[in-house]
Amino acid sequence: MSAGLAPSAATLPSAESETTPALKGLYVGGSWHLSDGGGTRTIHCPADLREVTTVVESSATDAGRAIAAARTAFDEGSWAALPEKRRGEMLLHTADLLIRDKAIYARAEALDTGKRLVEAEYDIDDIVSCFRYYGGIAGTDAGRVVDTGNPDAISRIVYAPVGVCSLITPWNYPLLQVSWKVAPALLAGNTLVLKPSELTPSTAILLMDTLTEAGVPAGVANLVTGSGPEVGSVLTSDKRVDMVSFTGGLATGKAIMVAGAATVKKVALELGGKNPNIIFADADIEAAIDYSLTAVFLHSGQVCSAGARLIVAAELHDRVVDEIVSRAAQIRLGGPFDDNAETGPLISAAHRDKVHAYVMAGAAEGAILRTGGKIPTEAPLAQGFYYPPTVLDGCTREMSVVQQESFGPVMTVETFTTEAEAITIANDTDYGLAGAVWTSDASRAQRVASALRHGTVWINDYHPYVPQAEWGGFGQSGNGRELGPTGLSEYREIKHIWQNTAPAPQYWFSR
Ligand code: NAP
Repeated sequence: MSAGLAPSAATLPSAESETTPALKGLYVGGSWHLSDGGGTRTIHCPADLREVTTVVESSATDAGRAIAAARTAFDEGSWAALPEKRRGEMLLHTADLLIRDKAIYARAEALDTGKRLVEAEYDIDDIVSCFRYYGGIAGTDAGRVVDTGNPDAISRIVYAPVGVCSLITPWNYPLLQVSWKVAPALLAGNTLVLKPSELTPSTAILLMDTLTEAGVPAGVANLVTGSGPEVGSVLTSDKRVDMVSFTGGLATGKAIMVAGAATVKKVALELGGKNPNIIFADADIEAAIDYSLTAVFLHSGQVCSAGARLIVAAELHDRVVDEIVSRAAQIRLGGPFDDNAETGPLISAAHRDKVHAYVMAGAAEGAILRTGGKIPTEAPLAQGFYYPPTVLDGCTREMSVVQQESFGPVMTVETFTTEAEAITIANDTDYGLAGAVWTSDASRAQRVASALRHGTVWINDYHPYVPQAEWGGFGQSGNGRELGPTGLSEYREIKHIWQNTAPAPQYWFSR
């Protein structure tokens, strides 16, 4: 954090008025503010540490102001009273504006995260799809009428917004994770305070102006930048907040559950994963190998659903692992605008050091380091937070590298001999976010997919998702669902309205 730095907000276009401060980050009640503490933060690109922008660093007091604005906007009532179709139109308008400004958004996302520009562009497409999906289902589910068996009673199940929602998101897919929360929260009629990761705030800042342009009224969507311990803790404990929706690490998720308990908030958690990728001997081996590389090394492994646990039939081990090792060693690392790069850096020096320590711990536990495992020391990679694709062979279920999430480009390899053993290994995790099975036997594919205790299972594929389908985890990967109709339900209260159409005395108690 730094104070008084000159703004470099040129990358952040806005509908600026004379009263709009040059620095952005704190959006409360429909306008931009400076932090009451005067804090700012300079964002650096993890690919080469270039200065990207400087944003407001919000304080705990700022977070309280944002909650107050969201509370007032909710309690005033007109947002929730709008026809859902009207809110849906604003989401569709937001999608159109995101397409219009796609180049600006993608560049900001690539610079904040260090990911390749082309991947950031794919992310914007996915974000647009999310807003379109929720805009498109607006007004399609008004609840239901219950048959009471009583001709003088009308009984209806209707939906109500939960209220003020704190939305807290991580740095790996910054705006995508935001969109999975903001779109359904708004459609359901909630007001919100969004807190993106302190490392990647730029696209969340852009989104506030986009939502305003799309017609979202002042106070409905508010933004605070800043750190989790200072700002996030207010957002998760303040009595005026009704719901917390969080995506991030397991330890933070547990702390948020505790923080929300004091006021019995609704808490939805999307946490980490340690995801199995099972290859049976009858699989299409070339496809399985190819996808296994993408499964774990996409975005340098900084994907919650990364297929970091390769679980391969023992008889295939040498063929599969030798080829994965050889191809992993050739993956080209580089920054967002390097046309030759196939994947980018890790988000920070601290995260890279954590990934490296994890690999060293695995080697100390007996895993065989087949490739990677060294922090680059030469330019240009030494200028950023790069870490090479790494394969740890000869792993077993008890190892900490097999059980803990690295959130980096690290594959562990285990083997099995029977289908039952493959399932047991794949389910031996505290997590349960995603997994894949590779086989040409359709019955086996369905059997294994049914047996896996994971929220998403791919058969002969890895990574695809659509906004129409629910996303979330079993076990300690979380307790809610995003996307699909359930992703909207998370932001709704369910209310039963009973109407007696012919009221008459009952005389239950004698007069
Ligand atoms: P993180 O450290 O848990 O941070 C996530 C967010 O929580 C950030 O905005 C962070 O703020 C904030 N935060 C930190 N401490 C807080 C507190 N005490 N109270 C309230 N908020 C707090 O996670 P991360 O390193 O950013 O993200 C990586 C993790 O996210 C991985 O475990 C990954 O698997 C998981 N993830 C899961 C999904 C999914 O769909 N299940 C998707 C993406 C990522 P600051 O960082 O600004 O301090």
